[in-house]
Amino acid sequence: MLEKRVELEGMKVVEIEKCRNDIKKLREEMASRNNSNFLEDNKKLTPRRDVPSYPKYMLSQQTIDALKKPAFDVWLWEANEMLSCLEHMYHDLGLVKDFNINPITLKRWLLCIHDNYKNNPFHNFRHCFCVTQMMYSMICLCSLQEKFTQVDILILMTAAVCHDLDHPGFNNTYQINARTELAVRYNDISPLENHHCAVAFQIFSQPDCNIFSNFDPEAFKQIRQGTITLILATDMARHGEILDSFKQKVDSFDYTDEEHVTCLKMVLIKCCDISNEVRPMEVAEPWVDCLLEEYFMQSDREKSEGLPVAPFMDREKVTKPTAQIGFIKFVLIPMFETVMKLFPQIEEAMVQPLRESRDRYEELKQIDDAMNEVQKKKSENLTMGGKKK
Ligand code: 5GP
Ligand code: MN
Repeated sequence: MLEKRVELEGMKVVEIEKCRNDIKKLREEMASRNNSNFLEDNKKLTPRRDVPSYPKYMLSQQTIDALKKPAFDVWLWEANEMLSCLEHMYHDLGLVKDFNINPITLKRWLLCIHDNYKNNPFHNFRHCFCVTQMMYSMICLCSLQEKFTQVDILILMTAAVCHDLDHPGFNNTYQINARTELAVRYNDISPLENHHCAVAFQIFSQPDCNIFSNFDPEAFKQIRQGTITLILATDMARHGEILDSFKQKVDSFDYTDEEHVTCLKMVLIKCCDISNEVRPMEVAEPWVDCLLEEYFMQSDREKSEGLPVAPFMDREKVTKPTAQIGFIKFVLIPMFETVMKLFPQIEEAMVQPLRESRDRYEELKQIDDAMNEVQKKKSENLTMGGKKK
């Protein structure tokens, strides 16, 4: 009996050791996947060779109409439905027809785009969808097709779709301070935006995903240059510089001046990129939670790695109202009011919601402050009581 038990126990030990090894192997495999370099890791970039199997959602007329407006509820849709909406926008703007884009390639390209956004709390495929849907809304609301060429419209839409590709969830400051591979590769110069753009053109270099395959080299060059300029313009470190340059042009804006048009396109993608607060409160507010979740993940990591922490990312210092009030007052409203000089029609649909959101967060902050005051008094009374005893 004893011998049998010893033998059985021995087999268990061997089994446990085998499990341990399996777990170790799995861990190593996962770690190597996370650390993989985008230039070496072609897996996600490999186009699917078949016609995509996602259902062709028949968008209702109600959805098609709502899609044109900044009030569109971006939370109601699954990835497949957002892909159908994006596809619809390219058709509706006449881009597929005018540029002879293969409709199947368009589907494959969009699927590949989806696969190359990470599941970050904020910088994910839904954010890509939001920015592109806001661009589409602005094109419709401001009748941009009457002012711009179709090449410009194609650049605006495509840059919006690609603008945060493969975002790792940690911003440029982290990349630079932690001396990450991206910061080293791009010499600390807008490492993330350079990366988003490089991934975008890696995807276009796959023939099955190249929606520009019918373009002559000169047209491709123009689209490439335009897209790079717009994606690089989304680095918020350049916000002041880009807005100042636009302010100088806006009062005597000239649609025949290429420099003016490029500057306007840069401001437009910037507006769309940070436009969550333009949306109705119920749609906008969850995005603040997503942003703070991503910020806190970064600041926690910075603390654990002994790197500098920005106060606006610190869970001990920031709240939803404090995060939004300054951003709406000093970044969003000044930029949208400048754009309003050129397109007065955005006041009602875009600037007014910003003012309402600013007022709401200011009220929320007053409530927070009052609560903190009460809390402070309570704890002061407690310590006073303790001293008297
Ligand atoms: P993105 O990283 O999306 O290309 O550039 C936009 C940046 O602007 C975000 O990373 C974030 O730091 C900031 N941002 C965008 N929307 C908001 C917002 O609603 N509130 C605040 N406080 N910052 C925002
Ligand atoms: Mn973005």
